[in-house]
Amino acid sequence: MQIVTTIEELRSIVKWWRGEGHSVGLVPTMGYLHEGHKSLIEKAVSENGRVVVSDFVNPTQFGANEDLSTYPRDIDRDAALCEAAGADVIFHPTPEEMYAPDSCTFVDMDRLTKGLCGKTRPTHFCGVCTVVSKLFNIVTPDRAYFGQKDAQQLAVIRRMVRDLNFNIVIVGCPIVREQDGLAMSSRNTYLSEKERKAALVLHKSLTVGEELLHAGEKDAEKVKAAILKQIRTEPLARVDYVELVDAENLEPVKKIDGPILAALAVYIGKTRLIDNFSYAPET
Ligand code: AMP
Repeated sequence: MQIVTTIEELRSIVKWWRGEGHSVGLVPTMGYLHEGHKSLIEKAVSENGRVVVSDFVNPTQFGANEDLSTYPRDIDRDAALCEAAGADVIFHPTPEEMYAPDSCTFVDMDRLTKGLCGKTRPTHFCGVCTVVSKLFNIVTPDRAYFGQKDAQQLAVIRRMVRDLNFNIVIVGCPIVREQDGLAMSSRNTYLSEKERKAALVLHKSLTVGEELLHAGEKDAEKVKAAILKQIRTEPLARVDYVELVDAENLEPVKKIDGPILAALAVYIGKTRLIDNFSYAPET
């Protein structure tokens, strides 16, 4: 497995692979990889001749007061995980390699990016769409892999690929959790021991909501209220949002009569964590 830092070198490797007739999979990440990322890489390896994992803490998707400078980084550990998962290349560029100093072109999206995480992170999805478009243009993959953990991001990327006619199949992958239910995240490393325990409330509260839905509850407000009530049992938790939205357009729903996404963002101490589940009533 190779660590590649320049766009030029990556392009020439992909060209070589194409000459040999290989299909190419891309797994975009911000590094500090864990089992959740690994599941995406393994899926990509099982479906493509060659796999690129991008490992880049993308500055344009962080707001001014967010954790860009403290976001955890460990390229040596990441390289070992990628190699074990069967990736062929890690693309690990510098911000200067990715963005010219006078770069002023962005890919932005209306509607799907306004609610959920877009409310507290108004510039985030523009940064995501821009960097993912750039990676798509650099790697020109056949398939790209994204986790359901970031459900809004997955919906946004699917919409961007449709709207801008990228010839790439987007593959969504299930959330990988710790044994006690906490969704794996690079940001979990910010949590103290006490906060780590408190963070279980995200999954616990979603489970309460999911059980209500499976028991036949159709009123979104009631499900939301039950989730909120459970979160409020945890003194270290502060709710950013809890929403039940249409699975495709991410608009809030009142009545559950089609596929939905139940998503939340909760601060545990200073760390903002997200989690979600998808649900579709039986027809
Ligand atoms: P990140 O490095 O956090 O930007 O994540 C890179 C990709 O890995 C995204 O598509 C995430 O949705 C996905 N991912 C992160 N955590 C998990 C998880 N616990 N389970 C599944 N996918 C994940």
